[in-house]
Amino acid sequence: MESLKNRIFNCTKCDLYKTRNNPIFGEGSYCAPIFIIGEAPGHEEDIVGRPFIGKSGQLLDKILEACNFTRNNHVFISNIVRCRPPENRVPTPHEAEACMPYLLEQIELVNPKILVLLGATALKYMVGSNHRITKERGTWLEINGRLAIPVYHPAALLRDPSLKRDTWEDFKKIFFKYRELVNPNHQSPHIGLY
Ligand code: SF4
Repeated sequence: MESLKNRIFNCTKCDLYKTRNNPIFGEGSYCAPIFIIGEAPGHEEDIVGRPFIGKSGQLLDKILEACNFTRNNHVFISNIVRCRPPENRVPTPHEAEACMPYLLEQIELVNPKILVLLGATALKYMVGSNHRITKERGTWLEINGRLAIPVYHPAALLRDPSLKRDTWEDFKKIFFKYRELVNPNHQSPHIGLY
């Protein structure tokens, strides 16, 4: 992980390095059973150097908390690209392809049981450009022998709160899969077991 961190911090493989303040390595447990993949750092993340700390990140934390998951113990959070695209635009295919090897290496190092693909960009680059988040959210996929589930990006929930209901159902699936694969005793006061 330290070697990977050094390579990301010194990376100039795409032009995003020219405008970044901080590349984002990722955050969470290095042996997390759940690996969350977003799109790209935004303004706050770029300034502070941590992933998902703006409004989207605060909403993600609330959803995780409702599942009784914490960043320190249950998840690792990362992105398709490590440097902020100007004006928060979607990363270009060239930028994503340049940065993806870091993500794939990080997934191998953390070795999670469950991948959570936050939004269309994570679904596109982890699974394929013919996949649609609106059709496939909440369905279990397999990526290189790992279970993966696409869910809406929290930024989409902020733009359209009507998506929150579906997203909560999707995170309940993650909660129950975690119980099945990792810890059958995991509980949350917000999720009934029967
Ligand atoms: S986005 Fe990724 S590939 Fe591009 S400069 Fe940053 S770390 Fe390197």
